[in-house]
Formats: sequence, C-alpha cells, structure tokens
Amino acid sequence: ERLVAGEADALERAAEAALRPRSLADFVGQERVREQLAVVLDAARARERAPDHVLLCGPPGLGKTTLAMIIAAELGQPLRITSGPAIQHAGDLAALLSGLAEGEVLFLDEIHRMARPAEEMLYMAMEDFRVDVVVGKGPGATAIPLELPPFTLVGATTRAGLLPGPLRDRFGFTGHLDLYAPDDLRRIIVRSAGLLDVDLRADGAREIAGRSRGTPRIANRLLRRVRDYAEVRAKRVVTGPVARAALEVYEVDALGLDRLDRSVLDALCRLFAGGPVGLSTLAVAVGEETETVEEVAEPFLVRSGLLARTPRGRVATPAAWAHLGLAPPRSVVA
Ligand code: ATP
Repeated sequence: ERLVAGEADALERAAEAALRPRSLADFVGQERVREQLAVVLDAARARERAPDHVLLCGPPGLGKTTLAMIIAAELGQPLRITSGPAIQHAGDLAALLSGLAEGEVLFLDEIHRMARPAEEMLYMAMEDFRVDVVVGKGPGATAIPLELPPFTLVGATTRAGLLPGPLRDRFGFTGHLDLYAPDDLRRIIVRSAGLLDVDLRADGAREIAGRSRGTPRIANRLLRRVRDYAEVRAKRVVTGPVARAALEVYEVDALGLDRLDRSVLDALCRLFAGGPVGLSTLAVAVGEETETVEEVAEPFLVRSGLLARTPRGRVATPAAWAHLGLAPPRSVVA
C-alpha cells in the first residue's frame, strides 16, 4: 500500500477515529468552508429546523467524513453513514430513508457512485421529504407515497463534475475543500502528536507537513510512521532530522513524492529527454500499467507543476529537472 495514497482502508479509518476533530472550532484550516458551514448551522439552530442539505467536494483525505460528523455533533443529532456503492437499488435507499429519525443527518459518501434509479428517488426525498415506493412490476405496478421526517443529507464526492445537475441543485450549500497549506498541515500534525503522545518538535512537524501532499490523512499517516522510527532509532523524540531520516527510509521525498512518482519523473527526464512522450511508452519504461501511471502518479505530479500533459505527450517541467537534481536540456531552460 502506498504511504502517500489519499484513500484509506477500513483498518486505517479505525485508527483515524481517535484523531478526528469533534467540533468546527477544532477543525483546522479550510477557513472559507468552515465559516460558511458555521452560518448554515447557526441559522438552522436559530430557526429550530433541519439545515439545508450539504454537499462536500474534494480529493480523498481532506476531511469530508470528519465534517459530516461535526455537522451532526453541532446539531446534536445522530449521524447515519452510507455510501453510493452501497445503494444499488431504489429499494435500498427507500429502506434507509424510511428508517431515519426526525432531524437525523445522513452522510452519503461517494454520492456520484449511486445507482441512477436511486438517484432519482433521492431528488424527491431531498426536496419534498417524500418518496414513491413502487410495488409490483409492469402495468400492474403501483407507486405508494411514503412521507419522510425532515432530515439533512450530507453528500460527499471526489468528482463533483460527475454529479447530475438536478442532484447538485438540490443541495442548499456546497463546500469545496482544497488541499491544505503547509502551515495548516503542521497544526494538524501538532494536534495529532498531542493526542498520540508523541514528543514532536517544531522542526519535526514542519518536515512532515512539507511531505504530506496537502492532505491531513497523509500527514497523520506519515506521523505514525515517523513515530515508529523515533521509538526504535531516535530515543522517541521527533526532530526535523529524525523525521527526514525516517521518511527517507520510507522513500517519501521532500515534496512528498514516493518511488512510483519519482520513477515516472526519472524516466521522463533521463530516458526521454523530458518528453514529449506518450503515456503508454512512459508506462512501459517504468514497468507499470498505463492506468497506474495516469491515475496514481500523474495527478499529483501535474498538481505540483512537475509534469505537464500536452497533446503530443507527457513533458517534464523545469521544476522536475530541478527536483531530480539534473540539468535540463537547453530547450527546457529557454
Ligand atoms: P474519504 O473521502 O477517503 O472518506 P475524507 O475527506 O472523508 O476522506 P476524513 O476521513 O474526514 O477524510 O479525514 C481523514 C483523516 O484526516 C482523519 O483522521 C481526520 O481526523 C483528519 N483530518 C481531516 N481534516 C482535518 C482537519 N481539518 N483538521 C484535523 N484533522 C483532519
């Protein structure tokens, strides 16, 4: 498993539970979304009504689940958690919605992966707090209306563009989560170290933050690995040099690139003179599937300004040459 992946498996999610902020005040960074959400929640509390439905968009590991939990906690309501892939039939959704208590918060992760018929049922549920349950098949089928208690849907998606317009329109508020600035990540790492009882020094926190790819989940994961290293190799104290040495062992470099990222950049610069080179050629050169290069390595390389996708193929930027410590060919410098 990649140490710098944005996603987490069930085991890691369980470990993450202890590190989750429980209130908006405890949630670090994302000032704009936090302020906007605070207004939505305050207004709902003042009106004593369930707030508008909330859509949270952004890459994995930036805090969508955490915010859904905070919304429920701030409203003093229970939270029910499900995900798009778990809802493959309209009936699954009807069963779920009809079991909600008044005011309950329903978190629907990966909402873009829900089955189409369920999506249509959700439109009506969000708007009118009602669903039509179809009983029977063919000409004899009947729709039985079912009233629902008012609830708040918190939808989360990594791919806002994949949501159909009518669904997007039914959210009263959409929060866009951005990658975190290094200083916000540093604060998250300091907070987590406190909870995990890690002796972390200021330069150690900065070192980990810089390698966390703008993602709290990765920051917390790197902190756990660095803690292991400090326990067995460095008298349990995480200083800058200790964090650097630990992350060198785990092959996460100063920009947060791992071995796969670096091998792509390395092949691009050394074997293809910085490109342009086609994706499949590049993939063969690093011994990976095209999808792995395109979906796992490239997005962060592009976001970091190290690799560009052009109509003629992949190209290394001057920053890529600098990062590898190589002199770029003259055409790149110019
Ligand atoms: P996914 O889409 O994969 O479910 P997510 O966006 O829902 O990811 P979370 O599970 O909420 O991400 O967050 C991942 C981890 O990062 C959690 O341990 C959480 O506590 C921590 N985290 C996320 N955002 C923040 C934040 N702003 N402040 C402190 N910790 C955070």
